[in-house]
Amino acid sequence: MQAAKSLFTYPRYWAECYGTAPFLPMSRKEMDALGWDSCDIIIISGDAYVDHPSFGMAVIGRLLESQGFRVGIIAQPDWNSAEPFRALGKPNLFYAVSAGNMDSMINRYTADLKIRHDDAYTPNNEGGKRPDRAVLVYSQRCREAYKDVPVLIGGIEASLRRIAHYDYWSNKVRRSILMDSKADLLVYGNAERAVVEIAHRVASGQTMKDIRDVRGTACLINELPADWEVKDSTRIDTPGRVDPHYNPYHWEQTNAALEAPCATGDNSAGTEAQVVHIRPAAGSKKQYVLLPSYEKVSKDPVLYAHTSRVLHLETNPSNARTLVQKHADRFLWMNPPPVPLSTEELDDVFELPFQRVPHPAYGDARIPAYEMIRFSVNIMRGCFGGCSFCSITEHEGRVIQSRSEDSIIREVEKIRDMTPGFTGTISDLGGPTANMYMLNCVSEEIHQNCRRLSCVFPTICKNLVTDHSPTTRLYRRARQLPGIKRIMIASGLRYDLAVLDPEYVKELVTHHVGGYLKIAPEHTEDAPLSKMMKPGMGTYDQFKEMFDRFS
Ligand code: SF4
Repeated sequence: MQAAKSLFTYPRYWAECYGTAPFLPMSRKEMDALGWDSCDIIIISGDAYVDHPSFGMAVIGRLLESQGFRVGIIAQPDWNSAEPFRALGKPNLFYAVSAGNMDSMINRYTADLKIRHDDAYTPNNEGGKRPDRAVLVYSQRCREAYKDVPVLIGGIEASLRRIAHYDYWSNKVRRSILMDSKADLLVYGNAERAVVEIAHRVASGQTMKDIRDVRGTACLINELPADWEVKDSTRIDTPGRVDPHYNPYHWEQTNAALEAPCATGDNSAGTEAQVVHIRPAAGSKKQYVLLPSYEKVSKDPVLYAHTSRVLHLETNPSNARTLVQKHADRFLWMNPPPVPLSTEELDDVFELPFQRVPHPAYGDARIPAYEMIRFSVNIMRGCFGGCSFCSITEHEGRVIQSRSEDSIIREVEKIRDMTPGFTGTISDLGGPTANMYMLNCVSEEIHQNCRRLSCVFPTICKNLVTDHSPTTRLYRRARQLPGIKRIMIASGLRYDLAVLDPEYVKELVTHHVGGYLKIAPEHTEDAPLSKMMKPGMGTYDQFKEMFDRFS
């Protein structure tokens, strides 16, 4: 893996002389007050603007500001015309478009395809303030507003739809979102590194369409480079057959399904996990993996499953290769995932000058998503669970990126000192999972050679560090702070990991749960659990016994 340039070592853009904005401006009036004649980058967001590190667009905006750029936000614009997209004038560098913290279709529709009338990311919980497939609509309107301004798309909607993907709402496989949005470039996953590099390269005169080599990005190209070696995806994973669907509520049937070989031809449940060692490719040529085309995967579920599996096999930033998927006469070119942020970089991102409240334009309106997180602290990113139904690995990756204990403690103190309505209770110290803080592979060298889909399934890998003492230490320090009465843990717990550290379970149960703890054993039967890549009920029973003992 190439060494990544440190996030905060780029020479600042000349506009840093304007200093830090109290809030990123949402109007011309605010730009005037800041002395700006224009914005360098304008963020279009499907969410209300809450200046808080839990809101993706605030993070990206404040990060770009720290690089010296003047960043404006147009939040939840009326998408019926291009006019609202001109509200801050023409951006000097580019538009950055995101549907918000959620996919706009999940935000708007229930699993029964009924319309939701609420939206937690909108003032007063009001539904209908963003369009369906917001990335497509916003990108189109940006083009109409100023057709020569480049459009960069990102956020969870763009990230998870970066290659041909099954779309529940239309019940079909859709093309990469790049094809339909006509954006110049897509950033996927946690996009700090990619966005900062792109902004500086565009500022130095490079055309966004020519930026083809940044990790964590995808783009469309017309021709494949002749000086790269091609590896067909069937040399990495053999397309199998599709198992018959079984009724998860019928134990005889599920047991039968468990005994049947899975799509790859072996029954992995219960077998000892093996680290997959990758031999370096012969020769010095750069290599890409050619996936089955959109046209093929949209018609063939086996090839779709194969493609999805290869995508997951290529998520380790240390050994992932570029993926290519043909769409009609063009090629989707997906660079390897971004290099994870170091602890110092993550600390610096979380300690950007957020106001930690919604923009004052919203007045007293309630924004439920803000109310839910305003007293909680995000301590890490990523998940090595690899559960087959979950999008975290596909978005944030499998490497755990943890903040330092000091940085987390400083944020707890900021909540105590700055957040209106704080009464002494921190509602969560968590992340994608409550108890993966500082857990990683025992050795960087082993990690660099690993392509396992999960560090904890079918069994917990012997190379995984499962010592929870950094988390235990953090909890103890946080609850001793003056003005802090209680620290709750509300993020989901991996109880199969927790039982390996009884001291952690004792600490958690004794001090950080209110008598109840929500956990999700997702199912009770081995067959569905194995398809979800989840542990069996044995560890659940073990955890429950510990919970009862320490309660
Ligand atoms: S701990 Fe995770 S990354 Fe390390 S060898 Fe095991 S599966 Fe691979």
